[in-house]
Amino acid sequence: MAVSEPIPDVDTGSNPVLATNLISMQDKFPCTACGCCCKRINIAVKSIGENTIDNPLYFPYSWDDSGRCEMLTKDNFCKVYDKRPTLCNVDKVMELFDIPKKEFYQINIDACNEMMDEDGIDESFRIKTQKK
Ligand code: SF4
Ligand code: SF4
Repeated sequence: MAVSEPIPDVDTGSNPVLATNLISMQDKFPCTACGCCCKRINIAVKSIGENTIDNPLYFPYSWDDSGRCEMLTKDNFCKVYDKRPTLCNVDKVMELFDIPKKEFYQINIDACNEMMDEDGIDESFRIKTQKK
C-alpha cells in the first residue's frame, strides 16, 4: 500500500496544532487547521467532475458565495470532522487512488501553504518541510 511510503520531514514550528498532529504524522496528513481549504471548497468540488452520489469523492454539503463550506464554524472547526467527506481527507483520497504518500503529501503541503499565503494566514500555521 502507498501508506508505507516515506513522507516529507516536517518542522513543527511553533504551532501547537501541528505539534499535536506530528505525534501521529506517520498515520495522517499534518494539517494545521488553518481552514483555508474549507473556505474554497467550491474549487475542490469542481475538480471532481460530476458531484453525484456515485462519485467516491461526492461532497454532500453546500457553500456560500465565497466558497466557504456550510460546515465550517466561525472558529474554523468542521462540524462533521469525524465523518467528513473523503474529499476533505488527504489520507483517504491517497488510499482511494493508491497514490504514493511522499509525493501526495508534498503536493498537498505546497497547496496548503499557497492558500495560507493568499489568505494572509499567520506564519505559524505553515507546514514546514525540512530541506535536506
Ligand atoms: S489548507 Fe491544509 S493545513 Fe489548512 S485546513 Fe486545509 S488541509 Fe489543513
Ligand atoms: S466538511 Fe468539514 S472539512 Fe470538509 S470542507 Fe466542510 S468544514 Fe471543511
